[in-house]
Amino acid sequence: MLKIGLGYDIHPLVAGRSLVLGGLAVPGPRGLLGHSDGDALVHAIIDALLGAAGEGDIGRLYPDTDPRTKGISSLQILGEVMDRLKADGWNVANVDAVVVAEEPKIAPLAGAMKKVLCPVLGVADADLSIKGKTNEGLGSVGESRAVACWAVALIEKSDR
Ligand SMILES: [Zn+2]
Repeated sequence: MLKIGLGYDIHPLVAGRSLVLGGLAVPGPRGLLGHSDGDALVHAIIDALLGAAGEGDIGRLYPDTDPRTKGISSLQILGEVMDRLKADGWNVANVDAVVVAEEPKIAPLAGAMKKVLCPVLGVADADLSIKGKTNEGLGSVGESRAVACWAVALIEKSDR
């Protein structure tokens, strides 16, 4: 059986936060604001996985009102979501993601992000795609006030 899911996330880009994106600490003057580390790419991937599995979304499983998850690493959440999927017999076939940001530039970071995320997702390098786009100066993303991410995930399990 194959199932596909779509995820979307956006976080404000603000001064005085360290930037965590795609599981990477990215040096720079500004970071993503959020209850967790604000990793919008990992959040979009998580929502794609949960959507494919019919398990709701990250906001339902990890509400931003829960003090226990304040500052939590999104990679840790991704690991827990993968454990949940694996327990139901799911494997990830592939994930394709788009990061929409004026900064940082994604292409030079994508390889390192994949090295972090592929082992957690249990996929080969070729089965995770991370693409960068700008928003052509339009709107909050285009004005570098936010980073938005989209992801689709295909998951599979045997029909036994
Ligand atoms: Zn988020």
